[in-house]
Formats: sequence, structure tokens, C-alpha cells
Amino acid sequence: MYDIETIRKDFPILQREVHGRPLVYLDNAATTQKPLAVLDAMREEYLNANANVHRGVHYLSQQATQLHEAARERVRQFLNARKTEEIVFTRGTTEAINLVAQTFCSSQMQAGDEVLVTDMEHHSNIVPWQMQALQRGIVVRHLPITDDGELRLDLLDEYLTEKTRLVSLAHVSNVLGTVNPVSEIVRRAHERGIPVLVDAAQSAPHMAIDVQQLDCDFLALSGHKMYGPTGVGVLYGKEEWLDRLPPYQGGGEMISTVSWKKTTYNELPFKFEAGTPDYVATHGLATAIDYICGLGFDDICAHEQKLLQHCTEQLQQIPGLRILGPSPKSKDAVVSFVVEGIHPLDMGTLLDQLGVAVRTGHHCAQPLLERLGLTSTVRASFALYNTLDEVDALVAALHRVIPMLS
Ligand code: PMP
Repeated sequence: MYDIETIRKDFPILQREVHGRPLVYLDNAATTQKPLAVLDAMREEYLNANANVHRGVHYLSQQATQLHEAARERVRQFLNARKTEEIVFTRGTTEAINLVAQTFCSSQMQAGDEVLVTDMEHHSNIVPWQMQALQRGIVVRHLPITDDGELRLDLLDEYLTEKTRLVSLAHVSNVLGTVNPVSEIVRRAHERGIPVLVDAAQSAPHMAIDVQQLDCDFLALSGHKMYGPTGVGVLYGKEEWLDRLPPYQGGGEMISTVSWKKTTYNELPFKFEAGTPDYVATHGLATAIDYICGLGFDDICAHEQKLLQHCTEQLQQIPGLRILGPSPKSKDAVVSFVVEGIHPLDMGTLLDQLGVAVRTGHHCAQPLLERLGLTSTVRASFALYNTLDEVDALVAALHRVIPMLS
């Protein structure tokens, strides 16, 4: 039984006021709030088990290492990866994509080879490839989308050329909420021997991900978007791919032996984890995963879809308001909209005065907004702790704010 009032007690920040009004936090696609369980687990580790991991023979170091490696195993289970060797801890999705961009392009691509992204990517799945294009002369192509914000799968065969070496795409768009048919894209790319990287930053908090079922070759996610701490994320990679890629950064932990003559690298996954990892954050992330799984994705999805449906119905009744992206059936818990004649920033600022936190701007997806003929939108994004009353608070606030700005 999904008891929203009990759940909300796990997130004390939701009880606070801003500008003298109850906080209505609808900026979850940017980052989520953290349950007490995560905060307690991290505090407990700093209080009682803090020591650098993998290096010490002493008790505390072994305890911290055990927590850190247990977190890796928890992530493996969460994603249903075959092996813990396939789970690399990073600072977040951005670093995970940069890791693949740098190591894949340097070892598997030559000038003129192509990487295919899509028109709905976050900057973190555009710029790393553009940097490689500048350095190595690789070509970044982008699969177009429809006016409703869905991928033009009818053009996929045309965009998968004999020069395509990798496809890299968002599982869920952070602006439109579109859920992309990743399995189908992976299947069609694999028919041509092309590996696929999935940016799961926006899907991991909302749906069960099974990397073996998706059959993707790489997958990136961020802890802070799924009720975990900032500064930690995950790169999943199939062992056969990770084995083929060179290290990303050099330093401690990623080596096997170092000498002036020759340095050899550590085995997976440590080859990609130079320096001291944020081992307290990995424990926090594992605790966040326990929290999510304790509630269960079936109930989380059902709850968030209810919020999405209700929000969409209410917003559709506001004259001049246009919701971007596909219908709620094929999207995740994100609603981006514009209101004719009103700048999203002005709307966001006034909504904030009423306690409603939404995001305005280009959402780090400028090429997508350009494709839609916009520079900015208002985005409300939901999490497992939001309520129908909060959706109503957003709608009521819009009814107040829009006449003031018209
Ligand atoms: N991809 C998508 C789809 C995102 O929404 C985000 C965060 N907004 C990122 C990548 C980057 O995530 P991070 O900043 O946590 O690295």
C-alpha cells in the first residue's frame, strides 16, 4: 500500500516553507530530495566507519571497503548486470558519458567515423562527442524528432551508416519526458554490429532497468536524481567492451604496478576508477536504491503516472498554455510547457513566490529547444513523494500568475 503521507515523513525538507508558503517541490528532474535513510547511512559511515577504501589492512578501512563494494553489488542487482566488474562508479552521468566518449573514441574510432545521438539529448550527451569531433575528426550525427518530441525511427536505418561506430541516446528526455524505445534501437543497431550507450539519468528514478533485457552496451546514471547523494553516479558497461577500452584517468587505484619503465593497469572495474572514490556516497546510493526498491517501481510508476495525468488534464484547460512532448501514455513524470506571450523565467519567478519550485530555461538541451522553435520552457517534474494536492497547488498558482503577466 503506497502511503504518501508516511513516505513524505521520510523527506523532512518537504515540510519546510519558502517565502512563507509550504514548499511545493516540482524540480525533481534537476535533483531529488533525500530520504532520512540515505542521510542516516552516510552520517553513520562518517561517524563510525570512515577510512580510505581498498588500501588499508586495518579494521576501519576494511569496513569502509566492504560498504563500498556492497554498494557496487547493490547497483549490479538494481540494473541486473551480469557482474560487479561491469559497474564503474563515476561522479555522475556526465562523467560516465565523458569516460566512454574519451576512451571509446580514442581506441575504436578514426576521423570520419560517426557517433549517432538524437535531437533530444542533454548537453552532457552532446558536448563530449563534439569535443572528440574537434580532437579526432569524428562526426556527430543526430537523429531527428517529430514535432511531438518522439524519435523519427523511420529515419533510423538512414542514420545508421557503415561509418556509425556508436549510438548514444537518452532513455527519457529531461525536457519532454519522452520514453525512447531503447530496446528496439539497440536491436536495430546491433544488427549492424553497433554498440549503444543509454543515458538513464532520467529513467533510473522512475522505472526498473534491466541492462540484460535492454541489451545496451553502456548505461549511465546519476545518484542525485534517484534520491541518493550528489557526486556519485554509475557507468554500466558490458565486460567485453570495458575490457577493450583504455583507462580514462590515471592515478592511484587504477594501476596494478607502477615503475618508471612500465606501468600496468588494474582489472575491471578499478581500471576506470582513479583516485579515492566517494565511498560514503556509494553507500548512500545503495541505501537510496534500497529505499526505491522497498516501495517498488510498480507503485512508484502508478503514483507518478497519476500525477502526470492529473497535471496534464488541468494544464490543458488553461488558455494559451501549450504542453510540449508526447501524450502522457508515452512519457515519464515531466511536464514542460509554455504560455503564449509570457516568458518562462517570469513565470518561474512568480511561481516561486507562491512556494512552487519549477525549473525554467533551456534545461541543458539547447539544440532540442531550437528544434522546437523555443529558447525556454517551464518544467514541472514529479517524484515518488509528490501529491495530487501539489499538482493542484501548481495549477492554482498558474491561475494567479498568468493574468499578472499577460
Ligand atoms: N542526461 C540527462 C537526460 C539529464 O537529465 C541530466 C541531468 N539533468 C544529465 C544527463 C546530467 O546528469 P549529471 O549532471 O548528474 O551528470
